[in-house]
Amino acid sequence: MAKKSTTNKRKHSSAGSPSLAAKAVLPTKFGKFAIYGFEGRGPQEEAVALVRGNLQGRVAPLVRVHSQCLTGDVLTSQRCDCRAQLELSLKKISEAPSGILLYLPQEGRGIGLMNKLRAYELQDGGMDTVEANESLGFAADAREYEFPAKILKKLGATRIRLLSNNPDKIKQLESAGIRVVERVPCQPRLSKISRAYLQTKKRKMGHLLEGV
Ligand SMILES: [Zn+2]
Repeated sequence: MAKKSTTNKRKHSSAGSPSLAAKAVLPTKFGKFAIYGFEGRGPQEEAVALVRGNLQGRVAPLVRVHSQCLTGDVLTSQRCDCRAQLELSLKKISEAPSGILLYLPQEGRGIGLMNKLRAYELQDGGMDTVEANESLGFAADAREYEFPAKILKKLGATRIRLLSNNPDKIKQLESAGIRVVERVPCQPRLSKISRAYLQTKKRKMGHLLEGV
């Protein structure tokens, strides 16, 4: 616990090697995908990948590495833009020649569901998302991208176009051996409530957001 910075004191080479648990067909609102289940070490190292197209084609696959957000993805919370980003990503991937949506159980930027709710309570008292995480003893962003990088390699996607606004995610994937040949912005339309949250992400976490 208590990592105060997103850039230093990163754990080294701790991620397990992902093994394929299952593969099935998954028809969605955004078209038909293959769903892969991957397991590493422990419950934090589980992920699903929605895959379509030829990942070794001429155009690098369009990839979204999405961290689980129960309140946003499932319960349609407007505190954040997670569900809107998820839907935009699936739409863009379904329109690309090939792509992957990697869905990771890193709830609350890695701090877990209950701690995320504690952080919401602090935010209701006036803190922003970064101050709340830090006052609970967590880094503003505690996510690690070594495990997802290993899954991308396993799928044969070592050269990708990444749907992201987060420069730290690009840096971490690259240092884990994935070549990000292009960053594709992942910016859905703003809701009134998520604007303040996104302003904090831009100001304090260096996210690349236009018109926020
Ligand atoms: Zn969210």
